[in-house]
Amino acid sequence: MSSLSIFKKEKKKPRVAIHSITGCAGCQLVIYFIRDKLLELLGEINLVAAPMIKGKNEKGSYDICFVEGMVACQKDFDELKKWREQSKFLVAWGTCATHGNVPGIKIYMDKEGVENRVYKDKSHLDGDKRPVVPSPIKECVKVDYEISGCPPEEIEFLRMMQRFLMNVKPVVYNEPVCVECTQREIKCLLEDEKECLGPMIRGGCNALCPAVNHACTGCHGPLEDANIPQVLKLLEENGIPKELVKQRLQKYAGPEFEKLGVKIR
Ligand code: SF4
Ligand code: SF4
Ligand code: SF4
Repeated sequence: MSSLSIFKKEKKKPRVAIHSITGCAGCQLVIYFIRDKLLELLGEINLVAAPMIKGKNEKGSYDICFVEGMVACQKDFDELKKWREQSKFLVAWGTCATHGNVPGIKIYMDKEGVENRVYKDKSHLDGDKRPVVPSPIKECVKVDYEISGCPPEEIEFLRMMQRFLMNVKPVVYNEPVCVECTQREIKCLLEDEKECLGPMIRGGCNALCPAVNHACTGCHGPLEDANIPQVLKLLEENGIPKELVKQRLQKYAGPEFEKLGVKIR
């Protein structure tokens, strides 16, 4: 029996949890701000743990557990491992969880220098113990589904839940941002020699940034089959400084781009 069919056969509402490790809470807020649709959804699910909005939270087992944030210290790792053991279907919710995102930038920086700048007292920091580097959650436990975005779009959450409740396996959106630009008839920013990363970035945001004349900075992480060398060449030909592109690639999904062979150190 697949994990997706369990609660349907048992005819009971799926037990859902929304948990968080190192992040900014923005991804959770996306879910809580859906309001009417969330209230409707609460008729179909049993939200048993959501520490940001609930006083009483149940421990697993969970049918679905959303995890926001990345693994930055031992406590994060221990919590994540526990939720994994307690959950049938674990979702990495947001780019911190899927790719490491902004909290992960420190792997490209002088660690001592950053910590000295942020903290007066560093005695509580335990980030060196485990894991060795700040990590997306798939580096530490098995992840069943990923939804990236900083923050992700509410429509992606609703689509996933709808499919889940219908016992249909959710499918990750894997088209570049450019597809949504074309659908919305947005003039391409590359024509104006702006530093848009859209052709190598997974969409799903409805081309949020290009729609307001801002270059895509890559918050959804790399598209699975993007022709990254070609995009980098195009940006170079447009006169975009290599250093700027490097910083943008480091910002949300640096380790993922490195795995794809992009030099960003
Ligand atoms: S992905 Fe973005 S919005 Fe979500 S927790 Fe991380 S920094 Fe915050
Ligand atoms: S503006 Fe950016 S995302 Fe939109 S079509 Fe051009 S390159 Fe692609
Ligand atoms: S356009 Fe790019 S940076 Fe903007 S929301 Fe979409 S993926 Fe993120």
